[in-house]
Amino acid sequence: MAAPQHARAAPLARALRSASASASKAETCRRALLGLSEPQLRQLALDHGQVRYARSSPANPTSCHSFHPLAQQSYRGKQLHDLIYKSRAKQIQEFNHVPKAFREALLGAGWSVARSPVHHAVTASDGTTKILLKLEDNRLIETVGIPVDDDNKASSRLTACVSSQVGCPLRCSFCATGKGGFARNLRPHEIVEQVLAIEETFKHRVTNVVFMGMGEPMLNLNSVLEAHRCFNKELKIGQRMMTISTVGVPNTIKMLASHKLQSTLAVSLHAPNQKLRETIVPSAKSYPLGALMDDCKNYFLETGRRVSFEYTLLAGINDEKEHAEELAELLRMCGGGYHVNLIPYNPIEGSEYKRPYRKVVQAFVDALEAKKITVSVRQTRGLDANAACGQLRNEFQKNPLLEIESAPSAERSLVPA
Ligand code: SF4
Repeated sequence: MAAPQHARAAPLARALRSASASASKAETCRRALLGLSEPQLRQLALDHGQVRYARSSPANPTSCHSFHPLAQQSYRGKQLHDLIYKSRAKQIQEFNHVPKAFREALLGAGWSVARSPVHHAVTASDGTTKILLKLEDNRLIETVGIPVDDDNKASSRLTACVSSQVGCPLRCSFCATGKGGFARNLRPHEIVEQVLAIEETFKHRVTNVVFMGMGEPMLNLNSVLEAHRCFNKELKIGQRMMTISTVGVPNTIKMLASHKLQSTLAVSLHAPNQKLRETIVPSAKSYPLGALMDDCKNYFLETGRRVSFEYTLLAGINDEKEHAEELAELLRMCGGGYHVNLIPYNPIEGSEYKRPYRKVVQAFVDALEAKKITVSVRQTRGLDANAACGQLRNEFQKNPLLEIESAPSAERSLVPA
C-alpha cells in the first residue's frame, strides 16, 4: 500500500512556489507568435481587421448579404502560420507578403516571432551538438541535438533534448543543472524554438523530442503541454516520438495521464528504495516511492503507454547486484508496462560520483534480465562536449542562477516589466 501524498517537504514546496512565481512573471514578457496554432493566428488576423469580404453565395452574387469575412481571415492566418513554421521567419519585419500596415499593427501591439539567437554551439565527435540559446532576459538555456544514422539513410533520426526551465530547483545530487541554481520557467515558445534551432543547425527535421534537458518538466507542465501540442500539430512530430521525463512531483503524473497523450513517460528512479533515493534525489522526501510507483501504474492503465524507468548508475552507490534485485522487486508493483533504461553516470566537474565499470553495468543488466525485466543501457553521446545536462550552460554562465524574486536589482532589471 502506497504512503499518502501528504504535505510537501520544504525543498519541493520551495520549488513549486518558485516555479509558479516565475510563471506569473513570464506572463508580462513580449507576446510570442511562435507556439500559436493556425486557428489562433487566424483569430489574431481577424482581431487586427484582416478581413476582406468575399462572395459566398453563387446563387445570389449581387446581394450584399452574400459576402463573408472567412476567406481572407483564413488566408492571412495560414500565411502567418507558414511564415513562422515553414519559412522560419525570425522577425515580423521579414513577413514580406503581409501588408505593411498589418506588420506595423502587430509590432505596435507588442507581438514578435520571439526567436532567440544562438549564443554558442559545440559539436562532439559523434555529431551530438549542444546549443546555447540566449533568451530575451539574457539567460542561457541548453538544448541538444542527437543524430542517429541508421544504415538506411532515409530513416535517420534526429532527437532533440529540450529544456523546460532555466536551471532547476530540484538539485539532484549528480546533476550539473541542479548545481547551477534556478531562475524561472520557460514559456511555451522558448521550448518550441529549441527544436527549430536544432533543425536549422542540422538542416534536418527533428524526428524525436525528449523533455530531458534543463529543468523538471512537471514543474512547468502547462508550458510543456503547450510545446508538446505545437510539436505535434505544427511541426508534425508524432506523439509517440516524444518522451516527457520527471524525477517525480506529487500529483502531476495523474494530471499528465488525464491528457491521455500517446507519449512516453520517463521516470527517473536512480535508486530501488526510498532511503537511498532521498540521498540522490532530495525532492524524493516529499514523494514516497510507493506513491510514485502507484501513479506510474495508473499512468500505464490510463494511457496504455509503458513507463520508462531511468536509472543512473553511480559507481559504488546504487550499482550492485542487490540493488538490481531490489529494483526488480519494486517494479513488480507496477504490474506490466514498463522498461528500465540504465544510464552509466557521465561525470561532471566537482562531483563526488564516478562512472561504473563496464562489467559492473553488465552484471546489473544480467541481474535484471534474470528477473525478466526488459532493460537497455543508454549509449553515452557527446561525452567530449560537456554532455551532462547543464554542463555547457554552467561553463558560460558562471554565476549560480538566482530565482527572479530573490535576484539583486541589477539582475531583476533584465526581466522585462
Ligand atoms: S536531474 Fe533533472 S530534476 Fe534533477 S536537478 Fe537535474 S534537471 Fe533538475
